[in-house]
Amino acid sequence: TDQIIETDAVIIGAGPVGLFQVFELGLLEIKCHVVDSLRNVGGQCMELYPTKPIYDIPAVPVCSSYELTENLLKQNHHFGPVFHLGQEVTVVEKQADGAFRVETDKGTRFKCKVVIIAAGVGSFQARPLRVKGIEKFEGTQLHYSCKDPSIFEGKNVVICGGGDSALDWTLNLVGKAESVVLVHRRDGFRAQAASVAKMKELCENWEMQFEVGQVTGFSEEDNRLTEVNVTGADGVTRRIPLDHLLVFFGLQPKLGPIENWGLELDRKQIVVDTARFETNIPGIFAVGDINTYPGKKKLILSGFHECALAAFAACDYVFPEKRIFLQYTTTSPKLHKVLGVE
Ligand code: FAD
Repeated sequence: TDQIIETDAVIIGAGPVGLFQVFELGLLEIKCHVVDSLRNVGGQCMELYPTKPIYDIPAVPVCSSYELTENLLKQNHHFGPVFHLGQEVTVVEKQADGAFRVETDKGTRFKCKVVIIAAGVGSFQARPLRVKGIEKFEGTQLHYSCKDPSIFEGKNVVICGGGDSALDWTLNLVGKAESVVLVHRRDGFRAQAASVAKMKELCENWEMQFEVGQVTGFSEEDNRLTEVNVTGADGVTRRIPLDHLLVFFGLQPKLGPIENWGLELDRKQIVVDTARFETNIPGIFAVGDINTYPGKKKLILSGFHECALAAFAACDYVFPEKRIFLQYTTTSPKLHKVLGVE
């Protein structure tokens, strides 16, 4: 698309802090678009501990990450944020007119007055299989995720990993694939016990195979991956022929493109001041886990506070002519109008 989306603010990251930033901007009538490289909102919480209870959100004695995310969405819903999920922001550039050009890896382009980076620990990417040269098969025979499981039907499949993704794919493909071999570095799993028990049962019935070991090499023929070498704890290397290799080693956060935007960083975090949460580039703010300042604590509640101050500071760019006053949501008729609760 050639279209450039014009808006007041682009928020990079739809974790809890990015979601609350929408609300704080909304109260001040700043319109925004939100981009996240994950396909779902909720950030780290939803990715790493979706069902674990959180006990330190002010006035919420206990909630799951799922509930927290749902409520943040409910709270900011009225402000109509537009989400662009499954896209990584790759470009942030200040233009001659002072506005920012923001672009994603999927080609979505924005022109905006302020950028608020709520990128947490960076964007999550699949942790790769570290075997030299094997990366050239990515997308054809080596998969870190897959949208269309039917490509494995009738094929010989090797699956690596010991978490829920690895086990779910294993159980799903047994019976559909020609053969399934699960490879994990030890005989202990992070996946649900029921899935592990089911997998072991399938092994006893000779419907699949489980190998303890790590992929240490591979063979190819005419540019096709033909087999992997799996080295066991006993130091013995076995060869396993295959058509497809699925790797589920979990996700790792990567600071990624943020490193190239000219921002002052301190140990992979963006340096901000504590009055405005603004970076060294005027008009770019950073809130939540991604920023650093003296005394910073990586807590959701700290991120929430940062959102409020960043929103007020953003008004300098969005409404340069206006003086902005603090108003209470309880008593301000103006805020009631903005919130649609008149
Ligand atoms: P994140 O939640 O990390 O979200 C950032 C988002 O930005 C991600 O979704 C990422 O994909 C996206 N992103 C990054 N770069 C880009 C890019 N270039 N383009 C597009 N998208 C991008 N905190 C508490 O307060 N209480 C707790 O009890 C608690 N328990 C925790 C337990 C665990 C196991 C962990 C790991 C953390 C816990 N935390 C807790 C910390 C809390 O999860 C973080 O403080 C919080 O998630 C930070 O929110 P955030 O929105 O700043 O970042």
